[in-house]
Amino acid sequence: MKHRLTKGILTATIGSAVGIIAMIVVIIVALLMMLDFFGTYETDNYIENNMYYADAYKLVLNVALKDNKGYIPLTRILYFYLEDDSLSFYEIYVDNLDKETNKLLPISEVCELEKYKLYDGCKDFLMSGQIDEEQNKPFVSPIDFKDVAVTSFFMEEREVFGVQDVHFGWDFATSNQTPVKAVCDGKIKKVDFTFTKNITDVSGGGGNQITLECEIDNDLTYEVLYAHLYPGSAKVKKDQEVNAGDIIAGVGTTGYSTGPHLHYEVSLDGNVVDGMSLVDFSEQEDYNNSN
Ligand SMILES: [Zn+2]
Repeated sequence: MKHRLTKGILTATIGSAVGIIAMIVVIIVALLMMLDFFGTYETDNYIENNMYYADAYKLVLNVALKDNKGYIPLTRILYFYLEDDSLSFYEIYVDNLDKETNKLLPISEVCELEKYKLYDGCKDFLMSGQIDEEQNKPFVSPIDFKDVAVTSFFMEEREVFGVQDVHFGWDFATSNQTPVKAVCDGKIKKVDFTFTKNITDVSGGGGNQITLECEIDNDLTYEVLYAHLYPGSAKVKKDQEVNAGDIIAGVGTTGYSTGPHLHYEVSLDGNVVDGMSLVDFSEQEDYNNSN
């Protein structure tokens, strides 16, 4: 009886020990697979680089916006950086800026600078006979850029609440109730302020929002979306006419939002476009020289 009991305990112990060891082996293998120890997954350098470039770009952009140095898109910076990674993003940013107008310089002009002349991209561009299109800048800024940090830019690939997405607008993080402005003389098409609490709601989409329609030169009709606005902050009504620069609401964090910020998104004929490329920086006050 005593022996049988001991044997029973021994069997159970060995049994569970084998079970535990098997479980540990399974966990270790799973961990190694996650770390790609067996090389089953191809590492995606493109995505990794993308995230690295995105972070580096936002740092530079935030400095540049505070210095009122216009707006240079990431694609333009990478055009030069991918050919020579000893250049800094900021150096390329400044080289691509027209100091008079604060506009993006045509590639052809940047390529005339001594240090870029011999780049393959420049040689190809100059050989191709292509001409950069004249940039139209019909908008004023949707928010005072000196008060914000860009946390997400147009077409950025990012992760929000653990989910990957591509961002169709611009996110400007700042404090609650910071004034949000009409970017054009236009008409308010939608005022949707159903959220009464200034809190995150992961199923809440853009939260409180306003849509402004901008008709430019009787030709192009842009739709401008302002999202995550502060409850009760709307200063406009549907169908109201507004002037460029008018304060229309305040920043909040309603809807699918991780903190107070303005989501600014522009579309043209139903297609999203880069809203920052439309902002005229030539008339902005020079923040550095003002108090
Ligand atoms: Zn956003």
